[in-house]
Amino acid sequence: MPKAMNLLFLPGDGIGPEVMAEVRRVADWLAANRGLSFAITHGLVGGASYDAHGTPLTDDTMAQAMDADAVLLGAVGGPKWDSLDFSLKPERGLLRLRKDMDLFANLRPAVVFEALAEASTLKTDLVAGLDIMIVRELTGGVYFGEPRGIESLPDGSRRGVNTQVYTTAEIHRVARVAFDIARRRGNRVVSVEKSNVMESGLLWRQEVQALRDSEYTDIDLSHMYADNCAMQLVRNPKQFDVIVTDNLFGDMLSDEAAMLTGSLGMLPSASLGKGDANGRRRALYEPVHGSAPDIAGQGLANPLATILSFAMLLRYSFALGVEADWIEQAAARVLAKNLRTADILQPGATQVSTSGMGDAVLLELDALRPRAAKQG
Ligand code: NAD
Repeated sequence: MPKAMNLLFLPGDGIGPEVMAEVRRVADWLAANRGLSFAITHGLVGGASYDAHGTPLTDDTMAQAMDADAVLLGAVGGPKWDSLDFSLKPERGLLRLRKDMDLFANLRPAVVFEALAEASTLKTDLVAGLDIMIVRELTGGVYFGEPRGIESLPDGSRRGVNTQVYTTAEIHRVARVAFDIARRRGNRVVSVEKSNVMESGLLWRQEVQALRDSEYTDIDLSHMYADNCAMQLVRNPKQFDVIVTDNLFGDMLSDEAAMLTGSLGMLPSASLGKGDANGRRRALYEPVHGSAPDIAGQGLANPLATILSFAMLLRYSFALGVEADWIEQAAARVLAKNLRTADILQPGATQVSTSGMGDAVLLELDALRPRAAKQG
């Protein structure tokens, strides 16, 4: 009997529980058909946790997240909790998870499924087959650097300060994640900064290069200024394999790349922390979208972003590349058959509900199974 994977599922608010229910079915399918063993615990986060316990994340749930091999989260938030004090807002639960788990590397794939290429605002031939991975540093840089604040000046005006700061260790650990991921893909990394105008950017460039030269000589590394990268992403996005960049530039470039792909309902993400002595890394997986209160409870939500986040969980927390590939292929095949949830509906396509999309993914997994068995 294989050791059970210890997972914490936090469905959260709005469409979170609906899309997570479809992941559960995929996990059950893998358990039944691939002999995988999942020990799944469910917890509350966000508004759901506030309603039950008066806090968006209890210490018990936080402790469970620290103990889990991986955490999968749906989404948090909604108008019901908008008037709460800042410290009690649903988002605080998610921020605490990210902070206490020290998740320093944010992985945002931008993948265009062939069948959805026409939904992009860019020309189809520019984006068809696009597959970029953006690795964003998540716990350092200008969002956290000191000194920071707003001060009053003697002449009565004010001064606002934020500090962009990175150390060698912070740069190396996120660059290492990018290089390791590139080894499983096309072996190419573009490191992005503004070393022409920022000393922290120059350090970033030098340290990424030094790590590559000492430990990753097989990686094809190049460097690009962030403003040029923003342009290249819309001019010729397929030139990129893996992009690694800091917190601020990564925030913008990952959203820009996401928009190349068409819909929020399709975008997964992962946030990784440090590895422990056993090689286990803290990790949180979640769709990029929010809790979509406008469509919650109506069977309209697209579960693919969360199902694809689960595929990332299998790939990055458990090195289950075959199973992750299957889920991604199943999603592509469903789309190729013109089955769509409302958010990605196109003329001539058939609309399916949230659970209808889950059904379709399971059918495609069934279809992939004998083929893979034959391949041996
Ligand atoms: P949103 O992502 O929830 O929704 C934006 C639009 O996209 C809506 O029209 C929604 O219906 C649609 N949409 C999003 N996901 C979809 C899916 N899977 N299938 C079909 N349609 C989908 O963003 P918002 O409306 O700005 O925020 C709603 C709530 O979610 C707010 O409380 C916000 O704070 C919260 N939020 C949470 C997260 C998170 O949990 N990580 C991220 C963003 C927003």
